[in-house]
Amino acid sequence: MFVQSTLTALSLLSPAVGLQSESRHRCAYGDDCWPSDNTWKLFNDTVGGRLIRSVPSAAVCHAERYNANQCAIAKSSWLDSFWKTNQTGGYAAMLWEMGESGKCFVDTSVRAPCDQGIVPYYSVSVQNLEDIQASVKFANEKDLYLVTKNTGHDHLGRSSGKGAFSIWTHNLKGIEWHDSFVPQGAPVDASGMPAVTLQAGEQWFDVYQAAAKKEVLVVGGSARTVGAAGGYLLGGGHSPFAHDYGLAADNLLEMSIVSADGEHRVINPHSDPEYFWAVRGGGGSAWGVVTSVTYKTHPVPQTLLIGVVQLNASDSSSLTDLLAGSMKLLPKVTDAGYTGYGNMDQRFEAIFLKPNGTVGSFNQTFAGFFNLSKAPGIQGAVGAYPSTWNAYLKTFLQDPNIGTNVQDTSRLLTANVIDEKAEDLAKLIVDNGGKGGFNFIGKVNNDERDNTAVNNIWKHSHALMSISIDWADNATKSEKHKKRLHAVMMSKNFTKIVGAEGGTYINEANP
Ligand SMILES: Cc1cc2nc3c(=O)[nH]c(=O)nc-3n(C[C@H](O)[C@H](O)[C@H](O)COP(=O)(O)OP(=O)(O)OC[C@H]3O[C@@H](n4cnc5c(N)ncnc54)[C@H](O)[C@@H]3O)c2cc1C
Repeated sequence: MFVQSTLTALSLLSPAVGLQSESRHRCAYGDDCWPSDNTWKLFNDTVGGRLIRSVPSAAVCHAERYNANQCAIAKSSWLDSFWKTNQTGGYAAMLWEMGESGKCFVDTSVRAPCDQGIVPYYSVSVQNLEDIQASVKFANEKDLYLVTKNTGHDHLGRSSGKGAFSIWTHNLKGIEWHDSFVPQGAPVDASGMPAVTLQAGEQWFDVYQAAAKKEVLVVGGSARTVGAAGGYLLGGGHSPFAHDYGLAADNLLEMSIVSADGEHRVINPHSDPEYFWAVRGGGGSAWGVVTSVTYKTHPVPQTLLIGVVQLNASDSSSLTDLLAGSMKLLPKVTDAGYTGYGNMDQRFEAIFLKPNGTVGSFNQTFAGFFNLSKAPGIQGAVGAYPSTWNAYLKTFLQDPNIGTNVQDTSRLLTANVIDEKAEDLAKLIVDNGGKGGFNFIGKVNNDERDNTAVNNIWKHSHALMSISIDWADNATKSEKHKKRLHAVMMSKNFTKIVGAEGGTYINEANP
């Protein structure tokens, strides 16, 4: 059934995705086929003059684009995710702006050249459906290398491309609340449900602020500037509320999308179940350009219990015991409804959240962590306090790793893998200098899993474990190469430990 579904969806998108086994070179800046200046000018007229010559975010600090005011702002905002996502050519990880060899940083000499890196050459700051359709049709007609960029937060670099033409959705904003939403084409007796429609450029922080005023909950990421209606959702989208309500993709009721032929389609389980299945976890940029999405909304929990575990080890053998011991406790706490995020950087530290949880039930569920904190060679603290989702948003919500060169390699860990391989996984972290973490800890609600393209391993997973590499902006080509090889080695080591049948989260994988 899925084979047939996928093929049908692919044939629909074949103009852009292509079914050829060999990859085809599409027209990029510098190629003879690149449209003339006059052709670009004529195209610009069709998108209301919103075509932008996109450049790296530090270009305002260099040579011909130097602008003292804008450079000062760029310097002070370099690590600020709001500023970064406002830049047409800004990307969270510098690798996806600069490529392997770029040198366009805010702190290099003004005279140093600012090369284009892999920032798309032209971008359209789309503001409506028609801009997107015109851009897709133009890219089709000229056979352009087309990318879609929303925030530029992608861990895999899928929103940038050397010499590409980009559809930039960031300024396509709009939030509409529904008391009783019924998808188009639903049976006449279908009952409506509370929902929200978000335009493609909306970001989680703004959605959460608007949701707080409406006193409703939208299942989204633990992040401020990640896009609420782009790659996050298309890849699945994990959330602090995933235990109760599933992944973001599970909460999708309807999507408005421009497919590769430039047609506008409203897709939902009634209008096009196969296409709808594919966009629920099938990955960013693969299925067309999303223009808006409609999510179910839920009641806001009255309280949110926030638990914190911070445990240190006195030496490397205690560290291995600490990390393995902590991992082994994750199935129990996640089955009990706790979700969280953690670091294994020379210690185990994690924050755990549970809607409407109590300190008493936390103390029972986390008894294993209390015991671990008293084990030989381990010190630290375990505790919890009642709070609210809004307080969490104000106090804890952050966007880490902006303006860095971080890359992850990751695996979703099943209970069996944790039970049998926790020591091996802990050793992998310790041998790697202790740079590991959990981008997500949780047992997600899988009621909708078979209706989505999300990797099946989510059904059995209790945590998304990652190991990251990073390099300094001025690292040499060979240093970067070494680090990236190391990430590939780590990924292979993961496979040796969890087995070839293991899987990961497409949005937080190794490119
Ligand atoms: C600080 C930070 C916090 C994060 N927190 C979480 C979290 O809590 N939960 C979680 O699950 N993930 C999280 N992530 C990972 C996040 O899901 C990915 O980075 C995701 O790719 C971001 O999607 P985006 O649309 O914002 O980014 P972009 O880089 O703009 O796009 C990502 C991908 O989606 C495609 N895309 C974007 N918009 C569209 C569109 N309109 N139509 C079609 N394709 C589109 C792009 O072409 C690209 O392939 C986090 C990432 C960061 C950097």
